[in-house]
Amino acid sequence: MKVYEVLIEYTSSNLDRLFSYFYEKDDPIQLLSRVIVPFNNKLVCGVVININQVNETKEEYIKKTGFEIKNISSVIDKEPLLNEELANLSLEIANYYFAPRISVFFSMLPPSLKPKLSSQNKPKIAYESFVKVIDNNIDNLTKKQIDLLNKISTQQTIKKSECPTSILSSLIQKNKVEIFKKEKNRMFFETIEKTEKLTLNEEQKECFDKILNGTKDTYLLEGVTGSGKTEVYLQVAEEIIKKQKTVLMLVPEISLSYLMVKRFMQRFERVAILHSKLTPSQRYDEYRRIKQGQVDIVIGARSAVFAPLENIGLVILDEEHSETYKQEDQLPYYHALDVIKMRQKYHNFKIILGSATPSLETKSRALKGIYEQLYLKKRINNLPLPKVDIVDLTNKNNISSESALLSNSLIEAIKNRLTNHQQSILLVNRRGHSPYVSCRECGYVIKCPNCQVALTYHYMNNKLICHHCNYEVDMITKCPKCNSNKVFKGGFGTEKIELEIKKIFPEARVLRLDSDITRKVNLTNKIINDFSNNEADILIGTQIIAKGHDFENVTLVGIVLADIGLAIPSFRANERTFNLITQAIGRSGRAKKGEAIVQTYNKNNFVIKTACRQDYMSFYATEIKLRKLLNNPPYTFMCLLLISGKKYDEVEDASDEVKRYLQTKFNEIENVFIVGPSEMFIKKLNDLYRKKIILKYKDYNIVKPIINDLMLFFAKKRNLSLIINVNPHEDY
Ligand code: ADP
Ligand code: ZN
Ligand code: ZN
Repeated sequence: MKVYEVLIEYTSSNLDRLFSYFYEKDDPIQLLSRVIVPFNNKLVCGVVININQVNETKEEYIKKTGFEIKNISSVIDKEPLLNEELANLSLEIANYYFAPRISVFFSMLPPSLKPKLSSQNKPKIAYESFVKVIDNNIDNLTKKQIDLLNKISTQQTIKKSECPTSILSSLIQKNKVEIFKKEKNRMFFETIEKTEKLTLNEEQKECFDKILNGTKDTYLLEGVTGSGKTEVYLQVAEEIIKKQKTVLMLVPEISLSYLMVKRFMQRFERVAILHSKLTPSQRYDEYRRIKQGQVDIVIGARSAVFAPLENIGLVILDEEHSETYKQEDQLPYYHALDVIKMRQKYHNFKIILGSATPSLETKSRALKGIYEQLYLKKRINNLPLPKVDIVDLTNKNNISSESALLSNSLIEAIKNRLTNHQQSILLVNRRGHSPYVSCRECGYVIKCPNCQVALTYHYMNNKLICHHCNYEVDMITKCPKCNSNKVFKGGFGTEKIELEIKKIFPEARVLRLDSDITRKVNLTNKIINDFSNNEADILIGTQIIAKGHDFENVTLVGIVLADIGLAIPSFRANERTFNLITQAIGRSGRAKKGEAIVQTYNKNNFVIKTACRQDYMSFYATEIKLRKLLNNPPYTFMCLLLISGKKYDEVEDASDEVKRYLQTKFNEIENVFIVGPSEMFIKKLNDLYRKKIILKYKDYNIVKPIINDLMLFFAKKRNLSLIINVNPHEDY
């Protein structure tokens, strides 16, 4: 008698355990395959985690355990979903991040293979019918039949859809040809011509040699865009593939990495692409191709870190500082680099971390010698970085009479580009028209009923929208409180700057790119292509436009307000602002000499000053001292405990209770700090009040079991939830 222990599809943490089932049919069930089981009078999907042989009969076993044990209804997979490495990895991630193991399976697998009832109707393997010859003898055939037979014979196989139906069926009837099925790959790749590898320059060669021959397992390849990092990735990858090993290449966001993907496809034959923007069929087909060992390289965004590659010899994390490598919108809250390091223990591969502005954590590890530090200091084309002007907005004389938001020098510079048929980019890191709407009479600010933050006015659809929960209402014409019509739109976002620019330069062709546009229709590619093809003069946008793209005719970048990100109460605010400014400035002068104009109220702020000089090392030197002073990463590890619920008092009481619980447990343990409870920056989200407690510690092994106990302790609390975010990217 066999007992099957099954993990079911619900992600709630109190169902994160195994349930026993019998199976009385003959077909075998594999470990780690999906099954359909009855659970709470419903059918659900589950994964078989253990199969135990027991000596008792069914009745004896039920009597012994005292549980009613039901039968598995049906079996979905004939093979295991995951190999042993990935199965163990799922457990390691679940434990490390306090996530239900089923949620880890969800992240690891493409939609068609997710252990969910709803994945049953997701795409299956698609087949295409082909025809092949089984008898070449042309006796008794008509002229048309002979022609078709010859055609198939010379091409060996031919798609069924390419044969005239009636002639084909006569040939089949006469046993001349037969039809067979082949798996179809629904992933579409344009034909890309192969290119030869370039001769590495001295700096590149040195990096290449060190990565291949060095003894360290992780390499920080630091160099500005255009310094030749990608060429080093390509050539190291080639060496690894020559040794019959595979390569995993992660990029922050696939839509911004088109050129990178293309360059890999130009160099290598067996490449797969994995990311969430593919259709479910494509993801399924690519996934299976990888699993069947048909590819040498996988390129993808965060979740590609789970690609079922065997024998991995190299993992590249491009733009390693990018926040997109940390999943924070759903469980498990994993960071791709943590997962890479877990997989490294199994495969023993080398890791390349590439960046122009490494995260403080990575840089400090490189300086300590934990990672090997490699530099590419020169740009390949020797173009100088753009000349940067800082405009002090506190000096009223600098502000143009044509717009309260733009300076004379920025307007002059745009004018100059228009005359010279060159392009400009304006960075405004906030979407919408105005970030708040208030009443001039009584001061009332319109807020989101679910989140209690100010609603943003959107000009495009004349709505007020919450940027946290997407709640929306029509724009008001009168104050809902005092009925005055003195409605004031405060601050600015991309839409407002767009309107101002169009007013000042009515003849200019202006494009805007922010997530309002990319979400509605997939216009991103069109806008980027149009701008690349010089079909517009000015591109206005949020951080989306600061990353990745190479626009040859852009010679001006204007940052409308560099200070926006600095005010966010996160330990990473400085780092993020520095990265954004340097990246934005870097869009100027990719092929011609460029300029950047940075508008700020804080011209003496070290973040703005160092970013404008593109001086990463000075930024690092100051910022790392602040991190030390405030005991923030990389000087400590961090875990964010987020307590939320519908009633403020309950959330407050529970937070205090959690704090007391932790205090007794951590009493006398050195180097563990409990910070809070304090309000989250967004105090209420989706109708839930939120409070946080931050744990800071040096040794996760001490903290982990205590958080585990805390979760059990907290599980008894009704109406409240506790979210654990280990190594959060942000702490607000
Ligand atoms: P990064 O990844 O740091 O932005 P790339 O590898 O993309 O840099 O290089 C920038 C440009 O220089 C690309 O157009 C690339 O083809 C070219 N390039 C890189 N290395 C060489 C080389 N050794 N010789 C000639 N051109 C090179
Ligand atoms: Zn009012
Ligand atoms: Zn809201």
